[in-house]
Formats: sequence, C-alpha cells, structure tokens
Amino acid sequence: MAGFGAAHRLHGEGITPVMYDKNTYHGGHTASFRYEGGFLFDIGPHISYTKDPRIQNLFADSVDQQYETLQIYLDNYWRGHRPQHPVQLHLHGLPEDVIIKVISGFVEDRQAADKPINNYADWLLASFGKAFAELFPMQYTRKYHTTTAENMTTDWLGPRVYRPNLEEVLQGALSSSAPQKHYITHFRYPSYGGFVSYLTKFVPLGNIHFNHQLCSIDPRAQSLTFTNGLVTGYDTLISSVPLPTLMPMIQGVPQDVLDASRRLACSTCVVVNIGVNRQDLSKAHVTYFYDEDICFTRLGYPHMLAASNAPEGTGSIQAEVYFSRKYKPFTGTPEDCIDPVIADLRRCGILRDDDQILCRKAMLLPYANIIFDHDRAAALETVHGYLDDIGIDYCGRYGDWGYLWTDESFKSGESAVERALSRRRHTATAV
Ligand SMILES: Cc1cc2nc3c(=O)[nH]c(=O)nc-3n(C[C@H](O)[C@H](O)[C@H](O)COP(=O)(O)OP(=O)(O)OC[C@H]3O[C@@H](n4cnc5c(N)ncnc54)[C@H](O)[C@@H]3O)c2cc1C
Repeated sequence: MAGFGAAHRLHGEGITPVMYDKNTYHGGHTASFRYEGGFLFDIGPHISYTKDPRIQNLFADSVDQQYETLQIYLDNYWRGHRPQHPVQLHLHGLPEDVIIKVISGFVEDRQAADKPINNYADWLLASFGKAFAELFPMQYTRKYHTTTAENMTTDWLGPRVYRPNLEEVLQGALSSSAPQKHYITHFRYPSYGGFVSYLTKFVPLGNIHFNHQLCSIDPRAQSLTFTNGLVTGYDTLISSVPLPTLMPMIQGVPQDVLDASRRLACSTCVVVNIGVNRQDLSKAHVTYFYDEDICFTRLGYPHMLAASNAPEGTGSIQAEVYFSRKYKPFTGTPEDCIDPVIADLRRCGILRDDDQILCRKAMLLPYANIIFDHDRAAALETVHGYLDDIGIDYCGRYGDWGYLWTDESFKSGESAVERALSRRRHTATAV
C-alpha cells in the first residue's frame, strides 16, 4: 500500500520508480490468495472503511467500480455470550450480576475525582469503571496486544475505543436494540479477486522487481545489495520495510540506533484460514474474542465480504492468533495453530461436529500490529531521527511504525515522496 502510494504520487510527477519486493507477488500485507477448493483469503481480514473520498475513488477506479458496500455488523464472544459491538453499549443479555457490577462501576468512576492518565489501563478505568475495564478491554488487550494495558500508552486510541455516557450504557443494558455505535458503519470490498484488487491499477506505475530481498544499504555510496546478489545504486530511497528489519541492514548504523530499533514492539499473527461446507457461520463480519482460554482473538468471514471469495454454498472463517517477539514469542510452525483453532471453533459453537472442513491453511505474519508500549515513542524518535539524517525516507505502517490502515499507509507513501521531492527542490535551489 505505501509503496504504491509512493508510485502513484511519483507518477503524478512523470517519474516511474524502480520498486523491489522480497515477495513473488505484490500487495504485502494486503495480498490475497486463492487456495484449494476455490477459497480466497486475504492476509488477515481486510476491508476498506476509509472516509477519504479521494482514496475511495482511487480504490474504486482500480477495480472498475466493481466493489461491494456493506453495512458492518460486529459482535463479541465472552464466556458463551454474543453481545454486539462495542460491548459497553450492548450489555443486554449478559448475566445480571455482571450488568449490575459494570453499571455501578461506571457510575462510581464518573463520580470519582479526575485521576491522572499515565497509561491505557488508567484510561480504561476512567472511561468504563473497574468491573468493565477488567472483564473486557483489559482482557482483550492481553490477547490482541500481547501485553497489559498498564504497559501501553494512549496515543494510538483515536476513535478506536468508544467512550459512552451513562444513558447509552443503560439503554444498551435494558434493550437488545440499542443503536450500533462504531467508528466504522459501512465498508467496501472488491467484488472479485480479494482486497489486493484495489491495487491492480497501481502495479504498472512502478518498475517492480519481485523476489528481491534487500539485505544491505550503504547510505554513503547510495547503494543497495539484495540476497540474490544484485547490487545497485539509488538516487532517492523510500522504504516501507519494517524498521526492526531495516535498521540492521544499514552500514555504519550506530549501536544506540540499532538498540532503539530492537525496542520497537509489534505483534506477530498466525492467520488460520478454514473453508467449510456451509455459509450460515455467523451474522457478524467480525467477532472479537475475550476469553483467554480461546486461542484466537478475532474471527472474520471472507465469504460474507464478496460471493467470489468462496465456492457457492460454502463459507470461510479466518482466525487471528497473536504473539509478539517482545512479550509472547511464537515458537513452532503456523500449522501447529490449525487444530487448536478448529477445536476452539467447535467449543464456541461456530463449527458444528458435522461440518466438513474443505480447506485449512495457516500463515505467519511476523509483523502485524504495532504495540504502543512505553518504549515506543523514544525509540522511534531515535530511529526516525537517524533515517532523516542519512536521507532514507520511510513510510507505511512499519516505516512510520503506527496504527495505520490501508488508506493511511497509501497516503504515507505519498507523503514520503512529497518530503523527498521538496528536499530535492530545496537542494536544487541551494545549488
Ligand atoms: C491482521 C491485519 C488486519 C488488517 N486489517 C485491515 C483492514 O481491515 N483494513 C485496513 O485498512 N487495514 C488493515 N490492516 C492494515 C494494513 O494491512 C496496513 O495498513 C497496510 O497493509 C500496510 O501497508 P505497507 O505498505 O505499509 O506495509 P506492507 O504491506 O508490509 O508492505 C511492505 C512491503 O515491503 C516488502 N519488504 C519487507 N522487507 C523487505 C526486504 N528486506 N526486501 C524487499 N522487500 C521487503 C514486503 O514484502 C511488502 O511488500 C490490517 C493489518 C493486519 C496485520
């Protein structure tokens, strides 16, 4: 996404960039694959909910206006209950003692004097009260971010976690028809070819070399070395390679910068893809799982996004199981996760005993979601400062090292070009 954002911006200047990708396919984290039996899966659930009309139009043009627009339905799984999302607005149906504890905690906390917010746990306690914070988001944080809320900052939140008022909490506790309040209401998804189709029209904008894994950068000589032996020069270098992978490649990188890049935390995800011989697997497009004895954190259902994602009459499930190098290292192979995922899908009642599994695949994403722990800001400043000094432009989710969605990653690539162009204009003027 970031690479093609950069190529798109350069195309506007009449420049065709040379692009290198270690993979044999384009799309990075937004690639899509069709497996045995005709099941299509993206790399982790990918839907487009950008509200930026320019990006909406670019993506729509890339698929010749052939996309689905769906009203999102999200729900949660907590100890056998399936409240709608966000739970804080949909307590109806949860055990009575839980609802009482949650609402009294919510009221008590609203009456308490303002306390300083030093971490995400403080923010959750102040926003929802102790009972709700501990039963739901703190538990989810341990599964999704693989660390505790105390160990996280709040600068990633934005509109991601909804903070309700008392009336909204009460309404959702008393009625099952409380309105959905999520920062996403609708989303788009290509009708054919999976999420990666949104990139189709951008591919020709760059001169792409696949199967080129960068392994060394000499910023003084302005040269790049790849594992296949190619050594080549560059004029301007824009990188969307994840920072912890990028920094050790740079010749002459100071030790403190290298150490800082090692402190950057990111989750690792094993994505387990399952094809099933029926479609009615879920009402929700995505379900969030809180219970720590269930191995997956989220489930998505690709067949609900576009009919072409699964053969007629069949359905598909995509489970995300989270680890992280820093807090919960993954050992073993992605395939090791398949049986535990299937067992937990049965335990939760999502798969039935008589369901036929038509496809089972697993994939490891070494870089998934940036973890906003207390080390991040200072470490990132050191790493970015050094890259600025040596004139390497960074972009994308793993170059900016932020919680970027696809549209933001695309725009981050455009911004990196903008910075590079303005530097060149500035140099030209100075000369
Ligand atoms: C599980 C999951 C679900 C997500 N769901 C959504 C969603 O629903 N909607 C949404 O908008 N966003 C979603 N995102 C975010 C989205 O995936 C990212 O914003 C976007 O894909 C990041 O694009 P990028 O170009 O910055 O990074 P990448 O896609 O990682 O691109 C980096 C590129 O660099 C290449 N590369 C890396 N190292 C080297 C090397 N040494 N040499 C050569 N090439 C190299 C890679 O092969 C890759 O092509 C999700 C992310 C995850 C992990």
